[in-house]
Amino acid sequence: MAENPQTLRLYNTLTRSKEVFSPIDPANVRMYVCGPTVYDYAHIGNARPAIVFDVLYRLLRHVYGADHVTYVRNITDVDDKINARALRDYGADIAAGRLGLNEAIRKVTEPTYEQYQKDVTALGCLPPDQQPRATEFVLPRADGKADMVSLIQSLINRGHAYAAAGEILFDTTSMAEYGRLSRRNLDEQQAGARVAVDAHKKNPADFVLWKESSADEPGWDGVFRIGGQPITIHGRPGWHIECSAMSAAYLGEVFDIHGGGLDLIFPHHENEIAQSRCAHGTAVMANVWMHNGFLQVEGKKMSKSDGNFVTIHELLETDKFGGRKWPGDVLRLAMLMTHYREPIDFSVRRLEEADATLTDWAKRTDGVSATRPSPAFLEALTDDLSSAAIVAELHALRKSDPAALKAGAELMGVNLESHRTRSLTHRYEGPQAHKAISEEAIGDKVSNRLALIREKNWAAADSIRDELLAQGIQLKDGKDPATGERITTWEVKR
Ligand SMILES: [Zn+2]
Repeated sequence: MAENPQTLRLYNTLTRSKEVFSPIDPANVRMYVCGPTVYDYAHIGNARPAIVFDVLYRLLRHVYGADHVTYVRNITDVDDKINARALRDYGADIAAGRLGLNEAIRKVTEPTYEQYQKDVTALGCLPPDQQPRATEFVLPRADGKADMVSLIQSLINRGHAYAAAGEILFDTTSMAEYGRLSRRNLDEQQAGARVAVDAHKKNPADFVLWKESSADEPGWDGVFRIGGQPITIHGRPGWHIECSAMSAAYLGEVFDIHGGGLDLIFPHHENEIAQSRCAHGTAVMANVWMHNGFLQVEGKKMSKSDGNFVTIHELLETDKFGGRKWPGDVLRLAMLMTHYREPIDFSVRRLEEADATLTDWAKRTDGVSATRPSPAFLEALTDDLSSAAIVAELHALRKSDPAALKAGAELMGVNLESHRTRSLTHRYEGPQAHKAISEEAIGDKVSNRLALIREKNWAAADSIRDELLAQGIQLKDGKDPATGERITTWEVKR
């Protein structure tokens, strides 16, 4: 642990207030964030929680020490659409027992999973300490870690769950504090419920823990004891139960921080809390609940029909958005220019601004070694990740203290070295562009060479010229028409 832990203040959705963060165990600060469903490539909205909670992860590691933070982000690979794809592609193998359902799901989700890892790595996100897949936590495990079927059984045993019409449901009236996170009460929820559809439910707000599958649908054989005899229900879990199981598996029954997008507060997080608290008999599931704000693209809710739906992969690798590719660090800074709880309008203009800012910072920190982040920067970062204020502070430092700018950018996961290299690579796509060398370094070599020419040290001057040429930089000697002085210009050889 760091000698003088910074005071960290975080906004807690549970209390609707900013609170001083006090970990349960400073030697192991524990955070869970809801991860991607690996059905489609992740869109830019999915990048926001990945980046926001990566900044928090880096800050927690800075404050408590890198070995004293555990960050879990799950992979949702249990999903009816994924099951349907597994059935379509591997149905015969599953039916014949040649392939287990988990293996089939692994095959259909692996490309999306790999792409997600590439996307978030390009965005500068550190890998979480654990990235459990939901499929591995459906049935009781050999290692005894928490699983969904056992959690559901605990809920049945404690009187919080019941079976009806092929489903096991959570009884929302069995929990006095149900609705505390989202601040909804059961009456409000019942008013709008479609009673006819939900006739088998005791209460319209009750939600599914386990759902029976038909004989030809893929599923897991969950064994439950409901009123005595064990019965096997071939089916699949409801969505919320996976996070209750995987968080308990790696972080315990009560942990420090649970994060995700604003849209997850209800029903997902509300129901996670209900399941975990009632299964474990605890007063809370996580002490602090954090939610990042919504993201729009070019002023509109992102949708495929509006033509503003864009994946992280498309931004990084195609010219679909704004007619060019955007490096991951530009996307990252563009995201952090707005406070994480505020809505963001993701636009080409914003990306251009982030790109220009990064290029400026990269120039000013060329050859500078990072020192320490400035006190004002740390103050802003530890005040509920006030990232807009952080960006302003970093911008102010670019002239006064580039070393502190570099340190602050590093703490936010923004790598100025790689931006410098990449911006040059992008500008000139010459054959040697991969051996990119900064403009400043070229300028230094050019003036060294001119000095050598003045000393008539032709051999040394030529060797600099040849060295640059090998890196794709061609020098051209000429005379300044105004002064008659010898000048050298350079261009990237194509
Ligand atoms: Zn979740």
